[in-house]
Amino acid sequence: MSDSKINSIPVLCGMPVEELAERLSPLPRFRAAQISKWIASGVSSFDEMDNLPLPLRTELAGRFTLRPNVTVQKHSSSDGTVKLALRFADGARIEAVLLSDNSGRRTACLSTQAGCPAGCVFCKTGAGFLRNLTAAEIVEQFLQLRTLADDSASSGMSPTTLPISNIVVMGMGEPLLNLAELRRALAVISSKEGLHFSRRRITVSTCGIARGITDLTDQGPAVRLALSLTTADENLRRRLMPITVREPLAAVKKALRHFQDSGGGRITLEAVLLGGINTRDEDAAGMARFARGLDAAVNLIPWNPVKGLEFEGKTLRQPSTAEIESFTQRLKTLGLNVTRRYRRGRGVMGACGQLSGN
Ligand code: SF4
Repeated sequence: MSDSKINSIPVLCGMPVEELAERLSPLPRFRAAQISKWIASGVSSFDEMDNLPLPLRTELAGRFTLRPNVTVQKHSSSDGTVKLALRFADGARIEAVLLSDNSGRRTACLSTQAGCPAGCVFCKTGAGFLRNLTAAEIVEQFLQLRTLADDSASSGMSPTTLPISNIVVMGMGEPLLNLAELRRALAVISSKEGLHFSRRRITVSTCGIARGITDLTDQGPAVRLALSLTTADENLRRRLMPITVREPLAAVKKALRHFQDSGGGRITLEAVLLGGINTRDEDAAGMARFARGLDAAVNLIPWNPVKGLEFEGKTLRQPSTAEIESFTQRLKTLGLNVTRRYRRGRGVMGACGQLSGN
């Protein structure tokens, strides 16, 4: 499914305005801009587009659908995290998460695939892969999360009442294996005539698809980039993240340097910390070597427990506080800028590595 179609009816919310203008030709371009604005406002029917002539609204309703056909279930956690489980018409299930930090800043975490072909052993999503999401399905997640954020902001019920300030493409799937649809979705999300969300507040996280990083650098959009490094020990990394067998770290680093040489800005190196596996001193030293020559900050994510996941016959475990502390200190001593991600969303299985669509 690569053209925002579900059941052969084109879905408009995933179409950048230029594409929309082409589809609507010979209508004047300003009509595409009007429709794009309406979609960005969150309408769910053509009838609401009251600056369009009635016959045009009727014609559009016969040719297009505005948003994907989806059922949504909401799960809220006591720490302010809200997970949405979305089920599309073909049965594909995905999840999107609205995270709130202590200052009330809200981040939308979006998925790009139903399941994930990367197969990382520490991640529930990696247990299977169904299909790529369409641009419309990616935009839909943002629209749903924005409605949630707006509702709680206007109710004043929650201490966390800010609108969405950041987007991380870190949910289910490897974004750079679905770059064409992600690119269309981000065009809608960031365009002035669309949702007008700043690209500098959007971060795409990859497990290290070198050609995808290069493609993103050369063809845009100009967003921030995070690499899920996990470990710079190539052998261990290949065993933990099977897809990286095809993505040697030297090629990944070359692509990251190209990204930065082209003005891409600081990158984040993420490491999911697995108790007794990648928190050794040599892992810290390897990470520091990998970071050399890059403008990078390290983000440590203590593994969020998922029942049944194991590595080479051993059940995975969370890192102990002592392991986390000593690894963090080691990295700092080696001169790295280190942050630790809060364990938000665990209560609804909405934290990193816990998303599965079920
Ligand atoms: S960690 Fe990311 S890349 Fe790896 S399996 Fe999970 S979703 Fe896919």
